[in-house]
Amino acid sequence: MRPPSLTLFSLAALAWLLAASPVLAGNLIFIYRDASGHTTPISSMADVDQVLPPTVTDADGKTVPNTAAARARTIFEAYLNTPTPYRVKSLSFDLTVIVSDDVTRPQDDRGSWSSGDGKTIQIQTWDSYRALSTLAHEIAHTYMRDKAGRNPTKGMSAETKYGPDKKHFVNETTTPETALSEGYAEYHGDRPSRFQSPVNNSKSNPGAIGCVGQGNLKSFTKESATTAGSYTTTDWKDISSAADMWASEAINAAILRDIAANVPQGASKIETFITAPQTDAKHYSTLQDIIKQWVAKYPSDGDSLARIIDANTNFTMAGGDLKALTGANNYVDNQRAGFITQLKGQSPCDTLPKLFAPPAAGTAGSSGLGTLFNSGAPSSPAGSGGTAPSSKQPPQMNNFK
Ligand SMILES: [Zn+2]
Repeated sequence: MRPPSLTLFSLAALAWLLAASPVLAGNLIFIYRDASGHTTPISSMADVDQVLPPTVTDADGKTVPNTAAARARTIFEAYLNTPTPYRVKSLSFDLTVIVSDDVTRPQDDRGSWSSGDGKTIQIQTWDSYRALSTLAHEIAHTYMRDKAGRNPTKGMSAETKYGPDKKHFVNETTTPETALSEGYAEYHGDRPSRFQSPVNNSKSNPGAIGCVGQGNLKSFTKESATTAGSYTTTDWKDISSAADMWASEAINAAILRDIAANVPQGASKIETFITAPQTDAKHYSTLQDIIKQWVAKYPSDGDSLARIIDANTNFTMAGGDLKALTGANNYVDNQRAGFITQLKGQSPCDTLPKLFAPPAAGTAGSSGLGTLFNSGAPSSPAGSGGTAPSSKQPPQMNNFK
């Protein structure tokens, strides 16, 4: 039988070894994968110059720009010049980022994605114009999985998550589980300040979510359940289904964005709920699940949550459903009808400030209409102003996974 003192010594020695060991997790490892699938580790711009030289010699012996390498170089310039992104250091593992020029791989393996275990991220070089926001998006997936222990879409096939074409777009209606997973990633991908980097803003493409309805998300698409790639499109002002909006990644992202901006400690509360350890037996699946937990813990936030949900779902929830979800009975019973009359169909960017405007003098009370035109809140006509798309690319084509 082992003497107790030896066991104690062993535990102490183990604790000392763990404490003395260098930090082995939370590092970023970059790899370049070329068009034929060959991989090379990258740790400096010297490595990049070696693998992806900025110039090449053409057939006539002239030195010309290496256009084939330009996009991958752009991404590495952004990544190697950026401090370790938000939260990577707290991951329980090292994170490998593959920047890929490889288009010979199976269709499902192309594009930008994070792996099922979250330990590998691929950034396809066609994403170079938004390199930082795509990395932030994929890191958010990884972080959610690492901290919560599971993804809301766990166990769902690609077809179930994304529809018959197995692709998804920021303005697409998919499933509420997909929308939460992608919406949380979009919410972080839309905040390049997460990198705390003064450089490369042009590569960050902030505002991918934009102002729904007047920015770069004027309409929402839904794929046919049977025909891959067949989409129907609905303008924001004509949105009539709350279920569709809860299944929209852009709307999930916009709700999270507005919660972070308008609810006390909203951003940190989002992280607390999203990253709370989950089990397969007991877990959240949708943003509505998170809202229910939120209101149970912070009932005084319910009124603000109801207004944010209304602005971002075009007032499409049934009043009873919104009350059951948020507990905002006073807002729903006494103010909402007036707001619907005045604001339904307008962009959330116009609607939200009015929903949060303090009541004008003498009009506090029942209708809410008194708050509409006296707030001094910023307003701009639909179709102008707001957040202009910051990228030349079609922003709806955010086909990262
Ligand atoms: Zn994603």
